[in-house]
Amino acid sequence: MSEFDLIRRYFSRGPRRPDAAIGIGDDGAVLRPPAGCELVVAMDTLVADVHFPATARATDVGHKALAVNLSDLAAMGAEAAWATLALTLPRPDPAWLEGFAAGFFALAAEHGVQLVGGDTTRGPLTVTVQAHGFIPAGRALGRAGARPGDVLLLSGTVGEAALALAAWRERRILPPAAAGCLERRWHRPSPRLALGRAARDWAHAAIDVSDGVAADLAHLLEASGVGARLELARLPLSAAARAAAAELGLGQEALWRLALSGGDDYELLLAVPPKRLEEALAAGRALGCPCTPIGALSAAPGLQLQRKDGTAFSLASPGYDHFRERQ
Ligand code: ADP
Ligand code: MG
Repeated sequence: MSEFDLIRRYFSRGPRRPDAAIGIGDDGAVLRPPAGCELVVAMDTLVADVHFPATARATDVGHKALAVNLSDLAAMGAEAAWATLALTLPRPDPAWLEGFAAGFFALAAEHGVQLVGGDTTRGPLTVTVQAHGFIPAGRALGRAGARPGDVLLLSGTVGEAALALAAWRERRILPPAAAGCLERRWHRPSPRLALGRAARDWAHAAIDVSDGVAADLAHLLEASGVGARLELARLPLSAAARAAAAELGLGQEALWRLALSGGDDYELLLAVPPKRLEEALAAGRALGCPCTPIGALSAAPGLQLQRKDGTAFSLASPGYDHFRERQ
């Protein structure tokens, strides 16, 4: 199969948008963001055996490669529109490519995203996606706008992907109901695009949680020049996460540690002024993505983690960092 056959067979599909004047097939894509909008661009790479097991299902890899990028657009409050895909493959395996394309285009269709170009090369399995979206000029939700007194909201639940990874690494079998839920959360994250767009109206700042709540919250705090107090007892943990933690012999504090530093959650952390809190919570419920207040921002810098009795909790490692030595 030639490179061109491969592109035609597996990647010339999915939504067609009127604002893509030229898509796949020319030297470059020609795209038309709506008048009065700014372009938001995000890129993320998934490397086999770093970001996903090389044995992972191809549909899951296709889904996740797009999902992690759409999650970045969500955190900016953007509407997703187009994507490009750089695919490096050890060999053109038709079954793998079909699975990958099925996962990628199912999520693309869900959010009306058109694949408008890419590059295909031979080498160790690596998937890079760039997602493009737009936002009314000046309305992007950054990391830098949080203010002291803002409520810290977290969408969905956290820790499931980290628990699934921990169980997989230790070759532990989880109870089937919990295992299904945790594995979906690990391999098929749902980008919170609708919530991010709604949050433009009521949030001061946002970040998506890819490297763990503690690490990503630290980025938001630093960018905004504020601190935060986070109440551990408020961390949203699912029944499946609690069941898995029990099965893995993790106590409450170990579960909190995993939920804060595990990563791969792809939820949104939002800084919301108290007078907009009810509106924010209602929006989360209406969009099927309920949010939980987990703390508040303060003028004093730093992140304080607090148990229910008010005592301080310390996290040895705040999240995953590719360039830090593995423990
Ligand atoms: P060029 O040599 O001009 O860079 P390529 O031969 O790399 O072009 O690609 C031909 C066309 O196919 C281009 O429009 C490119 O954007 C598209 N393309 C290549 N690989 C992919 C891919 N994995 N997914 C989507 N489009 C791709
Ligand atoms: Mg090329």
